[in-house]
Amino acid sequence: MGVKIINEKCVGCGMCVKACPVGAISMVDKKAVIDYDKCTSCGACVAKCKFKAIESDAVAAEAPKKDLSAYKGVWVFAEQREGVVMPTTFELLGEGRKLADSLGEELSAIILGDKVEGLAADLFAYGADNVIVAEDALLGTYTTDAYTTVLDQVINDMKPAIVLIGATNIGRDLGPRIAARLNTGLTADCTKLEIDPERRIILQTRPAFGGNLMATIITPNHRPQMSTVRPGVMQKMARDDSRTGKIVKANFTIKADDIRTVVEETVKAMKQTVNLVEAEVIVAGGRGVGKAEGFKLLEEVANELGGVVGSSRACVDAGWISADHQVGQTGKTVRPKLYIACGISGAIQHLAGMTNSGCIVAINKSADAPIMKVADYAIVGDLYKVLPALLDELKK
Ligand SMILES: Cc1cc2nc3c(=O)[nH]c(=O)nc-3n(C[C@H](O)[C@H](O)[C@H](O)COP(=O)(O)OP(=O)(O)OC[C@H]3O[C@@H](n4cnc5c(N)ncnc54)[C@H](O)[C@@H]3O)c2cc1C
Repeated sequence: MGVKIINEKCVGCGMCVKACPVGAISMVDKKAVIDYDKCTSCGACVAKCKFKAIESDAVAAEAPKKDLSAYKGVWVFAEQREGVVMPTTFELLGEGRKLADSLGEELSAIILGDKVEGLAADLFAYGADNVIVAEDALLGTYTTDAYTTVLDQVINDMKPAIVLIGATNIGRDLGPRIAARLNTGLTADCTKLEIDPERRIILQTRPAFGGNLMATIITPNHRPQMSTVRPGVMQKMARDDSRTGKIVKANFTIKADDIRTVVEETVKAMKQTVNLVEAEVIVAGGRGVGKAEGFKLLEEVANELGGVVGSSRACVDAGWISADHQVGQTGKTVRPKLYIACGISGAIQHLAGMTNSGCIVAINKSADAPIMKVADYAIVGDLYKVLPALLDELKK
């Protein structure tokens, strides 16, 4: 049935009428009345009614089933490959540190692998108070089954309130699996995380509807609260080798039968891909470059500055450059010291990936292009005139 009005409690304040997004509530004789042909049972009115005069089956079903107060602390999944901690882990520790400090709770990194305890020093240096170590030969190489089996047990055992995972290929595989096992929510590709000080829950913000609006998502009734964050979005702390912390051995059992896949060999991609995320200088081209060959000029400038070439999606779609160069919402999120945008208009989906750059230089024929508003230096002109002049100066 969904939502119903408790007439005895309704004071006729009309707040529910305003709250209803589909216009399904009206006031009749100073009492709220629901038009069930329109009502979608979204529960917006339930949340708004201060007098508890509206009840919802759906909201009741969503009520917490477990003791949420038992869940404490912020965890970061410390992804390692072949014994090397992935840079995203350090970025998440930087963000996790702020969240843990806001809550007045501890920040822990959880690391899975074979003989990985030695990596704890790196995790302490970047902000962890504790490092939870799950070591087993069966965890030497990532497999979905092994990592899910172990993380599920350790999270159920130690009950963190928040778990952050990098949105790497491994994180994107692991995060949803764990969330489903734990019957909790997961917000993917968050661009901002903060703590609501009153409710002590995490506010997870991410682009929605093609990047046209930012949605803030909460997990009020389930634990842990889980988020994935793309590489390059958060900032790591400065490394501090004087920091130490507690190493905790995780309790878990795993056997070969739990794992349905066998990794026989790891073959690294032969093709060299550009590392946009760690680049300090990016010279990026957009549709204004006009042709694939145009990127040679951008590459010359990038080489001169010790940087790499980036691109808007328009050029990737046109086949002028490969997808690993794409910056933006569906490409990479970058944070270089210098970002030179050449012939890029500055669509919201492109800006989503580069506005955190230290210094933005935009070269565009049009002074009205949106990129000019976010640029520190906006050069109005033809990139085929501006870039050769810049190159000459750089060579001098
Ligand atoms: C769901 C979704 C996800 C998306 N994800 C991304 C993403 O990750 N990254 C991304 O980039 N886009 C993304 N897009 C596409 C985005 O909306 C834009 O279409 C795209 O960014 C436009 O690319 P552009 O700026 O190169 O081209 P345009 O918008 O066509 O701009 C070209 C610019 O070049 C200028 N120009 C032309 N000639 C010259 C010249 N000779 N010298 C100087 N300036 C010149 C023009 O004035 C213009 O401003 C996404 C879209 C959707 C719907």
